Amino acid sequence: NTPIGVLALQGDVREHLAALEGAGATACAVRRPEELAAVAGLVIPGGESTTISKLAGIFGLLEPLRERVRAGMPAYGSCAGMIMLADKILDPRSGQETVGGIDMIVRRNAFGRQNESFEAALEVRGIEGGPVQGVFIRAPWVESTGARVETLAAIDGHPVAVRQGNLLATSFHPELTGDHRVHELFTAMVRAER
Ligand code: GLN
Repeated sequence: NTPIGVLALQGDVREHLAALEGAGATACAVRRPEELAAVAGLVIPGGESTTISKLAGIFGLLEPLRERVRAGMPAYGSCAGMIMLADKILDPRSGQETVGGIDMIVRRNAFGRQNESFEAALEVRGIEGGPVQGVFIRAPWVESTGARVETLAAIDGHPVAVRQGNLLATSFHPELTGDHRVHELFTAMVRAER
């Protein structure tokens, strides 16, 4: 029963660990390349993508992360984590790097000032049992996607949940609601890959 890791450089790591456990998975924090090598899948939490990017560089994790993702490790990114899984950021801070893997361009802080934080009930493709309550906190949206990217949910035509193969990303934070269905979906993706 290989654990699912949560990248623990910055952001709401504890909430994702709890949500994974709530979804029936074994979860552990990942800070070092050796820890990354020991997990079957990885969650990249919400937080601040510029900080996560910088710390991933300092901790020597950026290349190992890219390699694992390229090799097919399932990964799920929430909010800042979505940004980390994007091949391209529309408006990056200078020097801001991503792990990449999902053929999409994301716009940071896309919902604007008046609406920086809000909640919305979302129908998410692949998730049964009614809408998922999406908590958006200075969230990105997906500006454009390549052909292999499936949009699972959108707001006003902007994708806010996407999947490409073993990679899943949401603009919102399901780890804050006590509803574990997104983490269950990801846990099932990891189990299917094992
Ligand atoms: N605005 C943040 C960023 O650009 C993301 C916010 C979040 O993860 N809640 O990284």
